[in-house]
Parts: sequence; C-alpha cells; structure tokens
Amino acid sequence: MGNQRVYNFSAGPSMLPLEVLERAGAEITNYQGSGMSVMEMSHRSKVFQKIFDDAQAKFRKLFQVPEGYKVLFLQGGASTQFSMAPLNLIGATGKADYAVTGNFSNIAYKEAKKYGEISLAASSADRNHTYIPAQDQLKLDPEASYFYYCANNTIYGTEWQYVPETGSVPLVCDMSSDILSRPVDVSKYGIIFAGAQKNMAPAGLTVVIIKEELAGHELPYTPLMMNYKTMIEKDSMYNTPPCWCIYILGLVLDWLESKGGVPGMEKIKHGKAQMLYDVIDSSRLFHCAVEPGSRSDMNVVFRTGNEELDAKFVAESIEAGFTNLKGHRSVGGMRASIYNAMPVEGVEKLCDFIQKFDKAN
Ligand SMILES: *Cc1c(COP(=O)(O)O)cnc(C)c1O
Repeated sequence: MGNQRVYNFSAGPSMLPLEVLERAGAEITNYQGSGMSVMEMSHRSKVFQKIFDDAQAKFRKLFQVPEGYKVLFLQGGASTQFSMAPLNLIGATGKADYAVTGNFSNIAYKEAKKYGEISLAASSADRNHTYIPAQDQLKLDPEASYFYYCANNTIYGTEWQYVPETGSVPLVCDMSSDILSRPVDVSKYGIIFAGAQKNMAPAGLTVVIIKEELAGHELPYTPLMMNYKTMIEKDSMYNTPPCWCIYILGLVLDWLESKGGVPGMEKIKHGKAQMLYDVIDSSRLFHCAVEPGSRSDMNVVFRTGNEELDAKFVAESIEAGFTNLKGHRSVGGMRASIYNAMPVEGVEKLCDFIQKFDKAN
C-alpha cells in the first residue's frame, strides 16, 4: 500500500506518518463498529465526543500543557490567529510588540496595526531574514499587551533557539511549523497557536493553547467566532469543529507517543537536520545562507547560487523520487521541509542525492 510513496519535502500541507494514513484508511468506512466514517458523524455524538476528548487529552499530555491553559481546536488556519490575537488581547493597553523575522510574522504585524499601536520590537529584514535577533536586540515596551513572534520561519529557514524574556508581558507565538518537534515550557506563554498541516494533521485545524485568564477582554466588535472566550466556554464546539482533522490529530499523537513523545521527536528531528546541514556545508556547490545558531531543524534552505543549476537540481530530484524541494517563490533556491513525519531514511537518501549532484556538476 505504501510502497509507491515519494519522499515529500513539502512545506505544508506536508507528509503524515504512513502508519497514521493506513490506520485512517482501515477505519474509513466503519469507525470502530459505529457503522460510519468519522467524516459522517454528528459532532455531538458520543462516539465523536470521545475522539475529541481523547485528542485533547493526548495533546495536553504530550505537549505538557499545565493547569490554567485551554487547548482549542479551531478553524481558519494559523492566519486567522493573526487577527484573533490582537482582537482579543490588545484591549489591555492598546499596544503590542512584534518581532518580524519572516513572511508570516510580517503579515501578522501588518494585520495587528488595524487594532492598536504596534511597535516593531525587532526585525531581521536588514539581513534578508537570515538570522534571529538576540534577546538584547529586542526593543521591549513594558506596557505592551503582548509580545508576538513566530518560532520557526517556514520560508526563510530560521528558528528561535531561545524563548524571549519579556517580564510580565505575555508571549504570543506562532508555532505552526515546529510544534511538537521540541519540548516547550507552555507556562512561559500567553498564547501558542499552530496550523495543523505542517506537524499535526490535515489542513483545516488550528490548535490554540491559551492561558485562560487572557480571554474575555476582547474588543467590542470582535466577531463571535473569533472570540477566545466563546470557544473556551463551548470547548471549541460552538459550531461544528473540524472533526476529521481532530481525529487524525489523535492518530498522529499516538504515533508521536510511540516514538518517545516530544523529547523522542526532538532527538530524531535534530539528527535529521544536522545530517542535512553537514552535507550542505561540506559540499562544493551548495550553501545555506542562514547563520549558524539561527538555523531551522524543520525547513532547511539551500542553493547553488546559480539559478539554472538550482532548476537542474530540482528537476533531477523529482526523477529520483523526491518532491517539493523547490524553494518558496519569494526566496528561490531549494527548501527541504523535514517535519516530524519525514522518515530518517528520506533525509539520508536526500543527502546521498545532494552529494552525487555535487560531484557530477
Ligand atoms: C504555514 C504557516 C502559516 C499559515 O498557515 P495557514 O494555516 O495557511 O493560515 C502561518 N505561520 C507559519 C509559521 C506557517 O508555517
């Protein structure tokens, strides 16, 4: 069943563990004797409620979500959180701090300006987003309602290696492309959110972890469906939640647990990334522009410096059984997204391929 699968390096939606797809396939017409697919069930049914509760409990356990925080299963993608966070939080002081380290934090920054006074606490635009600003480069306003940053920059291939220290100002973090790849001290955050389609489940689900006391201070014109309070009170079931995605998330979390949970995943993913960076750094042809110390373990960007050669690499990689290695259209070059579900041998084979291309050209 799985033997014609390609090594898919897509930045998102990205690959899911084969075991998860096979289990979902086996259960697709008749979920555990219910006589129906999870896609066909009432979200208010007992059988679905159990799927929902189990997924939430497993997420809490594996991500170590402490008391006082709620795990929400929402829709609208990570991008909806770019508006939802300011709508709900900025009322505290009318101000917020943003670190812009790439494409998505820049969109979030521009969006937030509609709702309050937004300061650019840091930007890596001066060196084309090839680094993450250090703590002492952050211009912090102690009166900010929150400090916003994006943990892993999917397009530029950078990742924060530290948690910003902001005193009593709550942290709001977009972890769409590295959630569940490394342990996180959730108690340091006000809100963590992530679109599911990189490391968790199919597109259509956004997981939000929110410190409950932050909800309930939304701006008066906040849409009903964008009010964290509504979603906390109704346990994400004000309306129909993304049922199928929640079910798959549960399967992915079972798989993650079998791999040693988040600490197990951290070792595996770091090994994969290190292997790839070593091959790139020791090649003649390829280089990675991201500064060491800021490099992402999830999205590895590299290039030859010659567009034709890059195109040749991408074309030959497709013939060799790899897909989606072309870099984002805004950056060019190549990008290998090696999320949790990318098997180690996929990265090993890519490393071989890079070395062979390096010798042949
Ligand atoms: C993919 C991505 C987004 C956008 O997610 P959508 O679910 O498509 O809105 C936002 N932030 C980061 C870091 C991403 O990788």
